[in-house]
Parts: sequence; structure tokens; C-alpha cells
Amino acid sequence: MNDYRMLIDGARVAGEGGHFEVLNPATETAVAQCTAGSLAQLDLAVAAARRAFAGWQLTGHAERSACLQHIADAIEQDAERLARLIVREQGKPLALAFSEVMGGVAWTRYAAAQEIPVELIEDNATQRVELHRKPLGVVASITPWNWPFMIAIWHIMPALRAGNCVISKPSSLTPLSTIALVEIIARHVPNGVINIITGERGFGSAISSHPGIDKIVFTGSTATGQRVMQAAAGNLKRLTLELGGNDAAIVLPGTAVEETAEAIFQAAFLNMGQTCAALKRLYVHESQQQAFADALVAIAGRQVIGDGLEEGVTFGPVQNSEQLALVTELVEDARGKGARVLCGGERLARPGFFYPPTIVSGVNNGDRLVDEEQFGPVLPVIAYRDVEEVLRAANDSDMGLGGSVWGPDAEQALAVAKRLESGVAWVNCHAQIQPNTPFGGSKMSGFGVEFGLEGLLEFTGQQLLYVRKPGAA
Ligand code: NAD
Repeated sequence: MNDYRMLIDGARVAGEGGHFEVLNPATETAVAQCTAGSLAQLDLAVAAARRAFAGWQLTGHAERSACLQHIADAIEQDAERLARLIVREQGKPLALAFSEVMGGVAWTRYAAAQEIPVELIEDNATQRVELHRKPLGVVASITPWNWPFMIAIWHIMPALRAGNCVISKPSSLTPLSTIALVEIIARHVPNGVINIITGERGFGSAISSHPGIDKIVFTGSTATGQRVMQAAAGNLKRLTLELGGNDAAIVLPGTAVEETAEAIFQAAFLNMGQTCAALKRLYVHESQQQAFADALVAIAGRQVIGDGLEEGVTFGPVQNSEQLALVTELVEDARGKGARVLCGGERLARPGFFYPPTIVSGVNNGDRLVDEEQFGPVLPVIAYRDVEEVLRAANDSDMGLGGSVWGPDAEQALAVAKRLESGVAWVNCHAQIQPNTPFGGSKMSGFGVEFGLEGLLEFTGQQLLYVRKPGAA
């Protein structure tokens, strides 16, 4: 078994808190022992990052761009090993893990190529006024277990590109690919610019309240995001909070069933439904609800469920037993209230946290399966009568991450999409994200954005430079 250590100030170090096991969700056996750090080691990592920041912030844009390009090259060269590691700790099929790694490469190259603009506000005979952007200092990245490698890249690369130093804190359920990533990055930057701390508990809150950390970029549940925000007040940390979602999709009358059902299935069950912006509630006009439910059941039946490392597998396990228990509980709650479970709906009788793709009808707003973020392989298919009614239902949620509208007339669908209360609204697609398009939630799905120029600037603070010209009256 590999030895997974933390990285502090350029050195691989064992934690002072012993070890914890990382489980393979497809087998429920240990993938690795991971080292558990102490709060004193967190202090060391923060101190190292602060020291490194003194020099790193002064490096030029060209130098930092080149570093990121080298890192992208190194990740690409190591893609096969990284993808296999993601499968073993996270559970997704190998092809999806490979696309997670290659997506990470694309995002890294995009960050490398980004420019940080200087805005000239005024330049006349008496004064020149410019708005500059400066790095913030030490950024902590706290990541979840669903896309461990990709989300770490989303946090770390723009932070480094803007001139910050980073402490990474991955989920204890999936720390291994993030450790591998950080080890790659560390080969291309000075000691202390990137650090990683691992452990099972206590770090999240210690990071959130740590006076030596200037910003937290957090991706995870809304409840934890609220705790981060409360604890971060001490030194007014800057925050980007990418939190939970419960994305609605509205299918307008007259939509082509077969091709749309395929796209909807992919958007709903991406990563076994464990994707923040997965499609989680499907509202279909009553004239087509049955046809869509039938088509989705047929696609679910074609999935090959198994260990993501096995040839031909398209559908892996749920990542952990707690999530599996939540999914089971919500489906049982719906079943108990008379919902029809059209396929799936029961854990597979084999080792591993396997739960098949599950389509449910006969549920509505007010049922837990619709109201709560189930974050797993289940899709409720809900009938509606008219657009006003379905918009009320779609918007009747604390969450507001993404949403989509599907229909034969894109303009009509767009008009409905504009009325969704979500940070992103898609038409005839869902969960499309790319490095150059700002992405972020509204309502309780968080605030701040990632990607694009807006995302990069979240890792900077502004400084207004105001220069009075010689001889000006
Ligand atoms: P989680 O909130 O349980 O954990 C996220 C991270 O926070 C982990 O690293 C965890 O160790 C850490 N943490 C735990 N307690 C903490 C504390 N008190 N302070 C600071 N950090 C703490 O989330 P999860 O179960 O790992 O991930 C699933 C959730 O993430 C879902 O709600 C999903 O919607 C959300 N998510 C959102 C996005 C997005 O972009 N909006 C993307 C992916 C996942």
C-alpha cells in the first residue's frame, strides 16, 4: 500500500494524529491508510504558506503562468495513475475518472492563460487612477468527496495563478487523489506555496477560524458552509461558498422524448447523481410524463453496474455508507407515502455501496425526495399542468444552484429559464460547465463564483492607485 502523507513547506510529513482508513466504495475494503495531522501541524502549514507568500506574490504573471502549464503537463503525463486512484477512492467508472483528470488539465491550462487586468479609470492632466488586483495571501481549499480531484483543481489553480499560497484540506473520504495532485504541484513551485493537511475531523473548523488564513474557498454542503461562514468572521476571511443544490428541470410540452431522455439521464445520474449541479427534480408536462418516465427506466436498465475499474462498467457505487443511507431513507419515505418506484429502489445484495439508478413517480413538492438534496442515483419524475404552476414548484426551494428548461422552441424555453431562481439556467442541456463561464449558486446554494475572469478575481483583493501628476493645480 502506498504511504499517503501530508505536505508542509515542501516536505512530506506523517501526521501526529495517527492514521485513518480510506475505503474503496466498490469493495468496502481499505484502499490506503492516510496520515492524520494535528492542529499544531496546521499551524506549521499556515506559517509556511505565509513565509512563501512573501516571495510568491512578487513573481510575475508570466512565471506563474509557466508554472501552471508545467503542472498541467505533469498531470497529463500521470493521468492513468491518477484516474485509477480516483476510481479506487471515489467509486466512479474509470472513463469518468479519466475525464475528471483531463478536465483538471483543461482547467489548469485555462488558469495558466488567464490575464489579471489593470483597469484604467482616469488619466488626465491632473491625475491617473488605476484599479489593480493583488493576491489575498493564504487561501484554504476545503473540498468534498464527489469530484475530489477536479474540485481541488478548481480551487487551487486560480488561487496560485493570482499569487496566493494554498493549504488544501480534502474530504477524509477521498484524500488520496488530492495528495497526489498536491505532490505534483509542489514539484513546480517554491516550498510552502502549496501544502496539504489531512485528517478525519477538526480541521475544517480550525481552518475556518484560523487567523493566519485570508480566504476560504469551500465546496460542500450548505450546513457546513454556514459553519464556515460563522467561524470565518474573526478576521473577516474572504469566502467563496459552493454549496448544495437541488436542481429542477422543466420539460415543456412537445419535447422529443428519446433524445431528451438520454440527455436528462446523463445530467441526473452524472457521477451516480453525486454532482452538485446534477438534475435532481424532473418536472414533465402531464401529456408526456409517462413517456419520459418509461424512456428513463429503459436507459436505467441499460446501465452496467459494478466496480469502476472493471471493463464496460457505466455505473459505480455511492461513495459512502452515510450517503447510501440517506438515499435509501428518502426513497423509502416516498414509497411509504404511495410513490411508485419504477426501477431500482433497493441496495444491491453484494459488497460495495451499490444503489442502482432509480426512477420514482407519484411524488411532488412537499415529499422529502423532492424537497431535500438526495445527492444520489434517484430521479423523481413529477407531472405538471401549466407553466406558472411548474415555475412555482421549481422555485419552491431554499437552494438555487442550477436549473434547466427543455423544449422544442428554444426561445420559449429561454423565457421560462430566465424565471428560474438559480445561479445558472440551461436550455436544452444541464450541468454544462466550462473553464470560461462563471459558475455559482444563489439562495442557500452559496455565493461567489468559480471560473472565468470573475472566478479568478475572487482570489484577489483590489487596490486603487491614485497618482496626482506633477504641477497639477
Ligand atoms: P460536507 O459539507 O460534509 O464536507 C465538505 C468538506 O468540508 C469536507 O472536506 C469536510 O471534511 C469539511 N468539513 C466538515 N466539517 C467542517 C467544518 N465544521 N468546517 C469546515 N469544513 C468542514 O460535504 P460533502 O458531503 O463532502 O459533499 C457533498 C455536498 O457538497 C453536497 O451538498 C453537494 O451539493 C455539495 N457540492 C457543491 C458543489 C458546488 O459547486 N456548489 C460542488 C460539489 C459538491
